[in-house]
Amino acid sequence: MQQKIGGRPIVYFDNAAMTLKPDIVLDAMREYYEEYTSVTGRSAHKWAVKTTEKVDWARNELSKFVNAKREEIVFTKNTTESINLVSRALDFKKGDIVVTSDREHNSNLVPWLFLRDKIGIQHKHVKSKKDETFDLEALKAVLDKNVKLVSMVHTSNLDGYTLPVKEIIKIAHDNGSLVMLDGAQSIPHKEVNFKKLDADFLAFSVHKMCGPTGMGVLVGKKRLLEGMDGFIVGGDTVQSTTYTDYKFLAAPEKFEAGLQNYAGIIGSGAAAKFVSKVGRDKIAKQETMLNKYVTEEFNKIDKVKILGPPDYRDRSGIVSFNVEGMDPHDVALVLDEMNNVFIRSGYHCVHSWFNSHGIKGSARASLYFYNTKEEAELFVESVKKVVSYLGR
Ligand code: PMP
Repeated sequence: MQQKIGGRPIVYFDNAAMTLKPDIVLDAMREYYEEYTSVTGRSAHKWAVKTTEKVDWARNELSKFVNAKREEIVFTKNTTESINLVSRALDFKKGDIVVTSDREHNSNLVPWLFLRDKIGIQHKHVKSKKDETFDLEALKAVLDKNVKLVSMVHTSNLDGYTLPVKEIIKIAHDNGSLVMLDGAQSIPHKEVNFKKLDADFLAFSVHKMCGPTGMGVLVGKKRLLEGMDGFIVGGDTVQSTTYTDYKFLAAPEKFEAGLQNYAGIIGSGAAAKFVSKVGRDKIAKQETMLNKYVTEEFNKIDKVKILGPPDYRDRSGIVSFNVEGMDPHDVALVLDEMNNVFIRSGYHCVHSWFNSHGIKGSARASLYFYNTKEEAELFVESVKKVVSYLGR
């Protein structure tokens, strides 16, 4: 990143919220706007044909990225919309149960509480073990024939902990329940193979993997998507209408209503290709190296406490922490002011977890492959300074 503020470079450690965008993504979108801005399908002219081809290309890139079929990729605005799509279109009935973990982002909690209030489903959560790891036995104990869906965060944005999803999927399927994974914090960082994992749905945001803002994906097993109701309905979701009837298109198009964010979709294809080329093993390696350094340094500071598993290898690219005696927002503000170190602070949209633990939020550094050791050193040095001010 070339940009400087106040003559100093920026240390961008807020990647769990939004990643930076490479030229290749921006160029793909600019090209659409400058050279063939148009809509898919409806018109026969050359620009429309090119837009249709490019959207197909992008869907194909995303399907390769997660190893799903082309028809299993639905473009949405973000993870939140992907989860809402399932909550509205999956034919939930009064008495159905949805089970989540106890560390869900509001986007995988509020849709279920909302559905509870609207139609009378039940929401249950699986309490973590004392050491905050996932409790597979507690999951088994909560399952019964009414559990229609187990919807779990894959990697938590709260502390970087990754749930044992292979085991969770097996247990849920043995019970006859469907499984959705919230992959917002896993997909950008590690290889997630939809087919091999055998999850039924997978939701993620492309803006957390070098793609354009306001772009997300719902991956769903073809037979399930085909059987599902509409979500947002209208133009581009139907084959034909009469004054009294309509016939939906097949999935995924039946879920993509109205003119789409074509530039965003094309940029998403470019982002998936870019991240694949960087290599998710390389991404994980760089994040682990940086997390190891930060963790070891933080462990030397008495007043700094890291949330989540003590082993940095279990926390992906996330270091969620608190400085004793200091509000997390103040920590973030001082780091920003002092050295242009950009992190996030607060409840990270996981209010339910913080509220149940009586913790008033955390400061969170979230890393990505382009972050460097020098940046991590400046971050640690800045936190040390913050702590030393406290002692005065
Ligand atoms: N789930 C998790 C685990 C997240 O980290 C986020 C983003 N912070 C979301 C869901 C929601 O993502 P979006 O706002 O892109 O819909």
